[in-house]
Amino acid sequence: MDELKEAVRDNVDRIADRLIEVARDIHEHPELKFAEHHAANLLATELKEAGFAVELGVAGLDTAIRAEHPAVSDGPTVAILGEYDALPELGHACGHNLIAAAGLGAALAVGAVKDRLPGRLLFFGTPGEEGGGGKVIMVEAGLFDGVDAAMMFHPSSHTVVDRGSLAITEVVIEFHGKAAHASGAPEKGINALDAVIQTFNSLNALRQHIKDGARIHGIITDGGAKPNIVPEHAAANFYVRAPENEYRDELLGKLRACAEGAALATGARLEFKVVGHSYKAMKPNRALGEAFVRNLEALGEPLSPPKPDEGMGSTDMGDVSQVVPAIHAYIKICDESVAGHSREFAAASISARGLEAMLIAAKALGMTAVDVLTDPELVRRMKEEFAEKD
Ligand SMILES: [Zn+2]
Repeated sequence: MDELKEAVRDNVDRIADRLIEVARDIHEHPELKFAEHHAANLLATELKEAGFAVELGVAGLDTAIRAEHPAVSDGPTVAILGEYDALPELGHACGHNLIAAAGLGAALAVGAVKDRLPGRLLFFGTPGEEGGGGKVIMVEAGLFDGVDAAMMFHPSSHTVVDRGSLAITEVVIEFHGKAAHASGAPEKGINALDAVIQTFNSLNALRQHIKDGARIHGIITDGGAKPNIVPEHAAANFYVRAPENEYRDELLGKLRACAEGAALATGARLEFKVVGHSYKAMKPNRALGEAFVRNLEALGEPLSPPKPDEGMGSTDMGDVSQVVPAIHAYIKICDESVAGHSREFAAASISARGLEAMLIAAKALGMTAVDVLTDPELVRRMKEEFAEKD
């Protein structure tokens, strides 16, 4: 192993206890999207103490961080990312506490040898991954301009580096009907709930005819007030996902057609709203991913990829990967039987195995940052590949 990479690995071991404390602290203080003040302050303080120039509250987001190591010279710019938001009711059931600690660990470990490395080292604290699109906002604010490689780790039940993610758009459908006594004068009413139910039924008829890997799933958020009142308002919330951005957009049109058909059938008025931030599909950079895999192998972490037909989620790292070469590497923290966004995954995110995976991730991210900063041939291949793909 290269001497600088050995130093990065040893640096992570040296600060391992502190990184574990950070992972535990964030796990014990779960904060929802864009309210991650405890976690963001914790990371900002650690980075400042290590000599980074830290800006907390970038891109108009109070809990977003841009930190830059002061040793800057000609060469590539590498960005290590950390997420730290939790889920409602379940806490850190996506393990973002481990992402934050690993990203911090990589930044500190490389930072400690940065005066021997060319280029620029950045850490981005990216809030609101769970539906907030923190990275989408940070990309739009230009924070990734000039970045040559962006990378992060995500805990999983598999170790796999070149995995994509689904493009996603969130939709709110509202129907406006007319209230009337449901028994005394139903003919005077227009049933908004029926329109929602008809939308679901039409959508279910569509399912046979959509491509494998796409997902359309929803919940009813308003189904009326009382059985004896014809519902004058009803609403549903859907996620539309597909492996490609274009097909996601096509499916969005089909969902709209289902809702328009329901409006026509029932007489209710439709409001169809795309809400929140749409996430683009992940475009994993193979050249960067291969460098990461070589480092994982050097650390003795075997790959354990999922079956090809296994379901995927979505991430706002997709948007980053569309503007700069990027990887979103998964490292196994639990058995395959454990699902993400579950209570079991929240427990795994603070288990001994989870914390060990976090340290491996910190080392592999740091070592891959050294690769990018010191290997112009790797940077050339990353960029060539990035330019090639759509
Ligand atoms: Zn996540």
